[in-house]
Amino acid sequence: MLIGILGGGQLARMMALAGIAMGLRFRVLDHGSDCCASAVAEFVRGEFQDLELIDRFSNGLHAATFDFENVPADSVTRLATVVPVRPGAAVLRMSQDRVLEKQAFQSLGIAVGDFMAIDDLPGLCLAAERFSGQMVLKTRRLGYDGKGQARVRPDSDLAQALGDLGGAGLIAEAFVPFQRELSLVCTRGIDGAMVFYPLVENVHIGGVLALTLAPAKVTESLSAQAHLAARRVADAYSYVGTFAIEFFELEQRLLVNEMAPRVHNSGHWSIEGAVTSQFENHLRAVLGWPLGTAQARSPAAMINFLGQVPSPVPALRLPGVHWHDYGKAPRAARKVGHVTMLAEDSSALVARIHEVLEACELAHWKGAFEPAMQRLLAS
Ligand code: AMP
Repeated sequence: MLIGILGGGQLARMMALAGIAMGLRFRVLDHGSDCCASAVAEFVRGEFQDLELIDRFSNGLHAATFDFENVPADSVTRLATVVPVRPGAAVLRMSQDRVLEKQAFQSLGIAVGDFMAIDDLPGLCLAAERFSGQMVLKTRRLGYDGKGQARVRPDSDLAQALGDLGGAGLIAEAFVPFQRELSLVCTRGIDGAMVFYPLVENVHIGGVLALTLAPAKVTESLSAQAHLAARRVADAYSYVGTFAIEFFELEQRLLVNEMAPRVHNSGHWSIEGAVTSQFENHLRAVLGWPLGTAQARSPAAMINFLGQVPSPVPALRLPGVHWHDYGKAPRAARKVGHVTMLAEDSSALVARIHEVLEACELAHWKGAFEPAMQRLLAS
């Protein structure tokens, strides 16, 4: 069976690596010359907006999906006239716009941080008043990995902040003084059955995910809140496939930051750390197959390589370490690979994280990771 993927980045690559093991073949559509999924899939180069190309791309596909959320929803709709595309265009459209996304969550009774749509300076001044000057200003569309956003403080120059982000089509979010960032990755099958990976804790550096700890230490109540939010949004959109919801934890409450209607970086640990990986479960869902259990095999951590991949040899001398190099050209802050480590318990995991950071010449990240590692060690 041939599966089409709109987007040919590392998520498509890891999806194909999981699917090839199950006898599937892949075709990816990507506009870049540096399409790292092309090593494991048939590569069609072109623009997502080119509907004639979409028609040619669909030829012979059994099902299709996407590996990033900025694929034009109209192209997904066109593709869906020929072949099932999972998940569908409606959830994609919602998640492409931070304002629509927050409104959708609110209408489902799911808590989000306070926000305002911003299209001019008077609007931003109002938001500054409402949020006591403490905000994150973001573009509504096309932002990722901390790009297209700026932290605004009471002494910030609002006109400058507005101008820097294009002046309109923005969202002002009240700054959330969160205790930690958690995310939930889960998969919903065609029959509505869902499997939930354990909640994980994430540490971002400069707005980019650097560390995931799986499972996070959480109360039953936090898990239940996260599951309820995921269940509601997935059912509302008859979602099929894997998706992630990123949360801020504030005083034992969860506020949704955003959702990703696709496999997610904070689920990469599941390749080795869970009974069934997020990639395999996504494909099983897309094909209408039964889902696998999402249970963790052992405590796991994932560290992203940003900019360039270090030499693998020092880290691979350590037990329980798994190496992922996406084969992408090095570029500042770009996600080019990751390392996953498994250990028998939390204290062994924290010790291993320290060793891996040394081995990968990333010891300067220890300070940023320390609070999360301490939380894992706390009884
Ligand atoms: P995002 O692109 O929305 O996922 O934002 C990237 C990172 O910026 C998040 O993971 C947080 O660390 C931080 N961030 C974004 N929005 C807020 C907010 N409203 N309050 C506090 N921190 C935020």
